[in-house]
Amino acid sequence: MADVQHHFSSNHCNLVPVVSIIWSLYLLALERKWHVFMHFLKLSWIRIAVLISAGLLLPAMQNAHASFGASLGDAIEIEMLNAAQMDVGIHRLKFRAGSTNTGQPIWVPIIVAKGAKPGPKLLLTAAVHGDELNGIAAIHSLIDGLDTQAVSGLIVAVPGLNQPGMIANSRHFVGSDGGGSKTDLNRIFPGRLDGGDVAERYVARLWASILSADFDLAVDLHTQTIGTLYPLFVFSDFRNDISRQMAFDLMPDMIKNDAGQKGTLETSFLSRGIPAVTFEVGGPKKWQPDLIARAVSGLRNLMIGAEMIEGVKMESATEPFVGSVSTNVYTEVGGFAYLKVGLKEHVRQNQVLAVMLDAYGQEIATYVAPHDGIVLSVATDPLREPGAMLVRILR
Ligand SMILES: [Zn+2]
Repeated sequence: MADVQHHFSSNHCNLVPVVSIIWSLYLLALERKWHVFMHFLKLSWIRIAVLISAGLLLPAMQNAHASFGASLGDAIEIEMLNAAQMDVGIHRLKFRAGSTNTGQPIWVPIIVAKGAKPGPKLLLTAAVHGDELNGIAAIHSLIDGLDTQAVSGLIVAVPGLNQPGMIANSRHFVGSDGGGSKTDLNRIFPGRLDGGDVAERYVARLWASILSADFDLAVDLHTQTIGTLYPLFVFSDFRNDISRQMAFDLMPDMIKNDAGQKGTLETSFLSRGIPAVTFEVGGPKKWQPDLIARAVSGLRNLMIGAEMIEGVKMESATEPFVGSVSTNVYTEVGGFAYLKVGLKEHVRQNQVLAVMLDAYGQEIATYVAPHDGIVLSVATDPLREPGAMLVRILR
């Protein structure tokens, strides 16, 4: 956060208004009483204005590149991840995963934290859904707190995988074809270079050059999508013993043991024999400092378990709720949802979960729990259309 402040304070463009004020005063003087001296004033004011403008604007222009978040643009470009060749320490890199219709490169930030000793290779990805930001803060914080001299192995982090989605404030990869295309990237891994569309090519380039390096463990960080909320929650396929262990090491509130969906990062790694989990850190489009801190603790705990860093492995303060079936309760009618349950609340079958009101405030529907369980996700946006999720129950 201190860095962010620093970047903004180095913005010399805030001197531009000063020049504008001086220029406006000059114009005002022309309009009013000083017309007698106009000819004389014009010359001197113009000279003064030009000198001040030049003095203030030149340094502003020189610093402008630092004021528009261009550190990604200025980072060292890699065409292929080759961590074995890198020195011990933190490396801030970028990879060109695609380009826009106007030919602008789409840079994806890559962080490599290379430890002084050999050890496991851990991949962390965040924001494959562009509205899911907490994982990015968790990666930043984890890397910031690492002493690479004390690390065995290496971490490769992709803090912002879906750049077009982040730019568009969207879960989806937003392309321009056909008047605008939207693709859920976490359903199309490992993508397709040959004959693929813009999203499939983007994913395939990332997969071929960065993500398919020989990792030993992978954690894909998410949040719930816009209008909904998760607790700290892990999807894990317990058929893989290490994935199961990773889920508990992350110390979440809840774990869902399932086989995962086709085309996700998690299942793409698992199908190649690499233990992987999907780590859900709360809700979208805001920082949740408590959950981000817990996510960082969980990731450090996982690294202790993998003997990447020294430390005493911790257990969750409260045992995570483990389920294998989750049921979405959807609204059948559009309207305003009033939820009667909260996140992490235990519910009984037929317990009222939500009531829907219409535009006049009249009750039009009531929804109940289809089975016993715990509330895994809730709608935070009360305005729901037919088919939208109200509550998700895990059992
Ligand atoms: Zn997601």
